[in-house]
Amino acid sequence: MSLGLGEGRIGFLGGGQLARMMAMAAKRLGLTVSVFDPSESACAFSFADHRFIASWDDKKAVRQFIDSADRFSIDHEHVPVEVLQKIEKKAFVAPSSSVLATIQDRLEQRRFLSRLGVGQTEYFEINSSTQVSTLKETLGSKVIFKTRRQGYDGKGQKRVDLNQTQKIDFSSMKDQWVAEKKIDFVKEISAIVCRSADGNFCDFPVVENRHEHGILVSSHYPADVSKKVAATALEVVHAIAEALDYVGVMAVEFFLSSSDQLKVNEIAPRVHNSGHFTWGACLTSQFEQHVRAVMALPLGDPSLVSKGVMLNLMGDLWQTSKPRFNAMLQIPGVEWVLYGKSPARLGRKMGHCLVHDHASLDAVALRFEQLKKSLEI
Ligand code: ATP
Ligand code: MG
Repeated sequence: MSLGLGEGRIGFLGGGQLARMMAMAAKRLGLTVSVFDPSESACAFSFADHRFIASWDDKKAVRQFIDSADRFSIDHEHVPVEVLQKIEKKAFVAPSSSVLATIQDRLEQRRFLSRLGVGQTEYFEINSSTQVSTLKETLGSKVIFKTRRQGYDGKGQKRVDLNQTQKIDFSSMKDQWVAEKKIDFVKEISAIVCRSADGNFCDFPVVENRHEHGILVSSHYPADVSKKVAATALEVVHAIAEALDYVGVMAVEFFLSSSDQLKVNEIAPRVHNSGHFTWGACLTSQFEQHVRAVMALPLGDPSLVSKGVMLNLMGDLWQTSKPRFNAMLQIPGVEWVLYGKSPARLGRKMGHCLVHDHASLDAVALRFEQLKKSLEI
């Protein structure tokens, strides 16, 4: 049942910048917004009509939160599955608890992709009798150990060269970590789609991502890849979303090889940092599209209206002095989004900006250089 424009109440589990931008989109559609987060400084609270500051196991607060909205979604995939299960008894939540259970555990996610037959990063399930030699035979010498749960922005990862390592204490890693082959890729791309409750898809243009130390630095849109690669990436995301009977925005990160082969790196069951460009560069942003899907409203037009680059603004920029925003605000064709977070810690995502142009990528490149100079990066 659609709740109609200007009606209805949406609740977000988690109050980070993704919930903040979805809340902003929801407010524009005239919806009432509730946000639940254990931290009183969660940045989505600024756009919430109803704020719930409590731990996830506070039964009373969770009950009141459930009563405060009609339909629910998440800010990040690390919220407890049990809370989603409680919501499901009374209201609609997307993604569902079963989707979240599959995705928030990296190993379960890999097993799901392998059952689906989707090309993905080669991985190895660690147990207490795992040997360095077996791991090396299976994945090669360069591996990345990743925590099964709670990882983000490259946290919870260890890169290891098995040629330099004789012994690893696998018994303390079993059930907690998964091993992956280190992939030699030429590009990283992500494909972001939205699936409505009646199974229709709206696809955003595929985007190209640059990471440093496991953190997204910038996303260039549209990705400089062949039509075939872009279409294949979108087909894979459709297959994943259909298999999960998924509702809302889903992003899938891929590694692209020199022979144009795609391997899934990971699934994000939510709006995604690499999709921030859609707010400003597409007729309907990923944030609004997700809210529409969750509220069972018709999906919007995701067409691209400009080309450019999204640059993340990390807390590192604030370490020596405040960025010279006055000078930067004068650069034409740049849109700024700050998340209202404090303090500005190293590696913390504080905001992002879009450098874009409706016609020319050369103009974008010039402005991007100008911007990086004024940011001293
Ligand atoms: P987030 O959820 O913030 O995207 P994360 O902590 O879940 O990040 P990953 O996406 O697994 O981390 O890894 C972050 C980045 O590290 C990747 O985008 C890629 O640049 C690099 N990386 C991760 N796994 C591999 C791999 N198997 N081979 C090569 N590079 C990798
Ligand atoms: Mg990632």
